[in-house]
Amino acid sequence: MHKVCQSRIGDYAVLVQTIIDPLPTARSAETSRPRVVVVGGGLGGLAAAVDLAGAGLAVTLVERHPWLGGKARAVTVPDGRGGVVSVDAGPTVLTLRGVLDSLFRDAGATLDERLALRPAQVLARHAWTDGARLDLHADPARTRAEIVEVFGEAEARGFDRHLAACRAIYEEVRDDFIFAPRPTLLGLARTHGLGDLGRVARIDVHRTVWRAVGAHFQDPRLRQLFARYATYTGGSPFQTPATLNLVSHVEQLGVWTVAGGMAALVGALADLAGQRGVELRTSSPARALRVEGGRVRGVELEAGELLPADAVVANMDAGAIGKGLLGPQAQAAVGPVPVARRSLSALTFAMTATTAGFPLAYHNVFFGDDYQGEFQQIRQGRLPLDPTVYACAQDRVEGTHPPAAAERLFLIVNAPARGDQAPLPDVEVDRCTHATMARLSRCGLQLSSGAGRAAACRACTWRGAAPTRGRACRW
Ligand SMILES: Cc1cc2nc3c(=O)[nH]c(=O)nc-3n(C[C@H](O)[C@H](O)[C@H](O)COP(=O)(O)OP(=O)(O)OC[C@H]3O[C@@H](n4cnc5c(N)ncnc54)[C@H](O)[C@@H]3O)c2cc1C
Repeated sequence: MHKVCQSRIGDYAVLVQTIIDPLPTARSAETSRPRVVVVGGGLGGLAAAVDLAGAGLAVTLVERHPWLGGKARAVTVPDGRGGVVSVDAGPTVLTLRGVLDSLFRDAGATLDERLALRPAQVLARHAWTDGARLDLHADPARTRAEIVEVFGEAEARGFDRHLAACRAIYEEVRDDFIFAPRPTLLGLARTHGLGDLGRVARIDVHRTVWRAVGAHFQDPRLRQLFARYATYTGGSPFQTPATLNLVSHVEQLGVWTVAGGMAALVGALADLAGQRGVELRTSSPARALRVEGGRVRGVELEAGELLPADAVVANMDAGAIGKGLLGPQAQAAVGPVPVARRSLSALTFAMTATTAGFPLAYHNVFFGDDYQGEFQQIRQGRLPLDPTVYACAQDRVEGTHPPAAAERLFLIVNAPARGDQAPLPDVEVDRCTHATMARLSRCGLQLSSGAGRAAACRACTWRGAAPTRGRACRW
């Protein structure tokens, strides 16, 4: 059995694919090609299916939901005018687009022909209670100039050092880890020798993100801003190794928005998979692997059907496999993920609202006053009292006119992943909802109140999307 981790879609999508003993026995009757079943129709499962079909295998993808996309999904909310609109309620931008380019190219297609991607010039707009604001630009010289203006030259020099450090980490781990087909720490050590202490230091594995960022910036607001990248992979800046500062550099390589939202990306991948001959089966939850004589024979669906397979790619949450949700044999390949070691969950809000008081960009971050306290509360299993709020203003794609009326917003607040242990009480979710709106307001953004918004605002802590991660979806 092999566990395969592969970064396939952007820096966020570290896919855990578990391939259990490929066996040349369960050939597809029509073609005698080896059969592979991919479990999970998220971005990772779709990408794996496209790749495997391109390699000549007979691929069936099973997805338990009636829709494809997994976390990359859109929800419909009232538009405040009697209709509904679709809001991306998962990923909102792409990074490392080269990964997708090569996936499409290898499948005989072109990404640009299938999807309209637009590079963002403003990566994110940041705001604090004291009225300070800072944009991160695709062009670091522009970011530097803004840092000089808002925080002074010394902090701008810290920015120079920080960017160089993030780039160095990225380059150090790019080939052996980020783009390696089977990245493991052991693999890293094997390539470079266990005794390469210089390398260990270069990838900054011994410090936390927070400490490393603190070595470059004095101002607590800039520390918040650059440490926040730890949360992109579900980590707390106060626990995550500083190696993850490479995410900051990944954004410098480019951030793209997708015309039509992430649903368009899911659709393009599904089309590509279909064209490569992948059988896409939605509403088909997998119950267990069928393993005989130590070899995988297929995947049993909840409905009782057995899909014969020579190999299985389980592109669902590794924690779900570790919990036995793909049967005991698969469980043995992964092992449990203790609650304390889970990555962060999220409380999210998809809504339409009329906005005032703050010039929203596409990506915006409104920082809480007590960053350390925020992550301590999450660690203790509570929703934060004064959350940092990420807001994606989905109608504010650069080069388009700002919306005249109600606009689509998607808000994310970091949350503990404990929904499967003890669901978050409504009163706590309500309190955090108020704190979220208060945070926006304290940073200058007023959202329209009234029936339209209240009806459209939905809180979700993600259990529905990923039940074993302790997420509790309220939809
Ligand atoms: C709120 C949020 C915002 C994000 N923002 C970004 C962003 O801006 N940019 C970015 O690049 N990334 C972002 N990410 C991360 C990105 O969404 C994920 O990394 C990516 O979507 C994961 O894809 P996946 O296919 O690996 O997993 P998933 O999307 O979780 O897919 C797993 C699939 O497996 C299915 N499944 C599970 N069990 C079974 C079973 N037994 N049988 C059949 N099917 C099963 C699930 O239903 C699901 O569809 C964000 C994530 C979240 C939650």
